Amino acid sequence: MPPTPTYQRSRELLATPLAQIRGVGPRLLQILAKAGLNTVEDALYHLPHRYEDRREIRRIAQLREGRQEVFVGEVLASGETFTPKARKRIYEVVVSDGSAQVSLKWFHYRKDWLKKRFCVGTRAVFTGEIKRFGPIREIHHPDSEILGDKSLEQVMTEDPMNFGRILPVYPLTEGLSQKVARKIFKQVVDEFAPFAVSPIPPHILKKQELLSLSLALAECHWPENPEPDFDLETGAGRARSALVFDEFFFLELGLALKRRGVVLEPGIAFDVTHKYTRPLAQMLPYRLTGAQRHVLGEIKQDMMAPHPMNRLVQGDVGSGKTVVALMAALIAIENHTQVAVIAPTEILAEQHFLQFHDWLEKLGLRAILLSGSLGPKDKAQVQDKIRAGEVDLVVGTHAVLQQGVEFKKLGLGIIDEQHRFGVLQRGILRRKGENPDILVMTATPIPRTLSLTLYGDLALSVIDELPPGRTPIKTRVLAESRREEGYRLIKKELEQGRQAYIVYPLVEESEKSDLLAAAAAAETLQSEVFSDHKVGLLHGRIKPQEKESVMKAFKNREIDLLVATTVIEVGIDVPNASVMMVEHAERFGLAQLHQLRGRVGRGAEKSYCLLVQSSRCSQDGKRRLQVMAETTDGFRIAEADLEIRGPGEFLGTRQAGLPDFRVANLLRDGRMLESARTEAFRLAENPEFLSAAKYADTRLALMDRWGSRLELASIG
Ligand code: ADP
Ligand code: MG
Repeated sequence: MPPTPTYQRSRELLATPLAQIRGVGPRLLQILAKAGLNTVEDALYHLPHRYEDRREIRRIAQLREGRQEVFVGEVLASGETFTPKARKRIYEVVVSDGSAQVSLKWFHYRKDWLKKRFCVGTRAVFTGEIKRFGPIREIHHPDSEILGDKSLEQVMTEDPMNFGRILPVYPLTEGLSQKVARKIFKQVVDEFAPFAVSPIPPHILKKQELLSLSLALAECHWPENPEPDFDLETGAGRARSALVFDEFFFLELGLALKRRGVVLEPGIAFDVTHKYTRPLAQMLPYRLTGAQRHVLGEIKQDMMAPHPMNRLVQGDVGSGKTVVALMAALIAIENHTQVAVIAPTEILAEQHFLQFHDWLEKLGLRAILLSGSLGPKDKAQVQDKIRAGEVDLVVGTHAVLQQGVEFKKLGLGIIDEQHRFGVLQRGILRRKGENPDILVMTATPIPRTLSLTLYGDLALSVIDELPPGRTPIKTRVLAESRREEGYRLIKKELEQGRQAYIVYPLVEESEKSDLLAAAAAAETLQSEVFSDHKVGLLHGRIKPQEKESVMKAFKNREIDLLVATTVIEVGIDVPNASVMMVEHAERFGLAQLHQLRGRVGRGAEKSYCLLVQSSRCSQDGKRRLQVMAETTDGFRIAEADLEIRGPGEFLGTRQAGLPDFRVANLLRDGRMLESARTEAFRLAENPEFLSAAKYADTRLALMDRWGSRLELASIG
């Protein structure tokens, strides 16, 4: 073993270009570069995505279906055949070891090569996934190692790299076979892993009982001492844990420092004068719930403090976040500053605008909508008003974050998250003023693992109570063929004086024809199904004023049944509505369905949600609808959503600001995230951390990983 270098030296060594590795020529270099691998460090963290257990050679009779297995056999037959069903030629080799036979198949092949390689009587070691079609077991494109005259034992001792052990299987890289990949990565690991030094303070490594970084890297590539429960599919085990911890630790350390940095920056110390908040409270037709008051109290504390607020308010659909945001906005306005409200979509921005505008007008204040669909002239006009301070509150999409938008004095930014904005967007908003307060609202509860990474730099408030008098919503999944039953239920409710929604999905490719579908449906429903009632129509193409009047009419019970596209996802608030029917429900995401369903169950009457499942619904779609039928708990829905779709999809886009992990997986490694976070936050709170020499390595690594994203002046 070479002497352990310092972290700084280790960092230099790991930055060695792969070109300097023996045996890596220009062609290979190109292939590696294409896969994003340029340095030794890149290669070290290019971990196998699964493993193959070649410790045990099985008898053919004992091969397990669906598993990667290794066995020895002798070729009984070899040749090209024609599959009438697939109308294709394939190459087939039948192999036996006396216990049973198995069929090897190639769909893409060089015939001459296979023919020469697998003559009748040839003995070889084969590896591959065992499949079964009817009575015959087969393997497609197996790996093989010709034994020739050699015994199995001989081969195993001669090629210890590829036999008799657990082997890494690397993510496929074009032009690179597993065998060559193994060779290169092994070489890099043997040569450089011993120099890898963790920049995590030693007392934390010890407390968490983590494997050393060099051992962890080596074991992940070449499991020499796998634990009994080592998972071939994921590689989960102590070695991987050490790398995951490392990754989470630095993420959380950055978030912790960001939070600390923000707290220490000077901000606006607002006065709570009650000038507008009190009249609003008197105008509201209800009393705030305990949870709302509690969260509002936390927000007030933050706003009064001389540092910028950075707070996330989490509350399930219908928990009453809007009024809390409105109160916060009024405090900012009382202090002669402006407020920006940012929504993820145009439709949501419009909805928010209508709500805020309503209340603000009553208080003699001015709100404006910065719509993305404004022409250049109107846009310039709106921007002028914002700059001149002629408006108190601006609502818009990310258009508000664009360059031309300048505020006279921005005091508070409210982001209605819907988990689509990330750390970066918050930074841009912050720079629109002099350290304004930031309030992030999220309706869909975000599983803790995600909120810790995405919102780790925010303080959290939870509205964990629904306004009183709500009754649970009964949800049913309805096959298309039973739509009539849904109509009957709606009719019954309408006859009792309730109101209902029928929602149609939008599909991007044919937005227009879908709108037509909703419009046509509204007509048919009016004339044929609900002729005794008044049917209204609402969709995204309707002008804002008209939309407002349709919504007003629905609110005033002039419309009984509202046919709509997802316009109503958020914002519509009619407690008398007791049924929601969703057509093609499987086309909606879980979060969206949850939002939609939140439009009913707002009054004291029993409410229903009918999810119409089309006959072509996918398996995933069915699972989603099942989740909806089983629970109304937003938190459980979010977890299920995350499970079904995975973190990237769950968050919508990469924009979401979800960090790219090299090793960690948010779904699998949630527990590790908690402990990494605890340690990281504790370290960040240590007053010595930013200055003491013993933390220099940790600080250096932090800067490496976070770079400019951290925006902390100098912690070097
Ligand atoms: P969300 O958290 O989903 O944004 P909203 O702010 O739209 O919820 O509020 C949902 C509904 O609850 C609205 O009709 C709102 O007027 C009503 N509401 C909010 N707070 C209360 C309360 N304390 N008591 C009764 N109703 C309330
Ligand atoms: Mg809302």
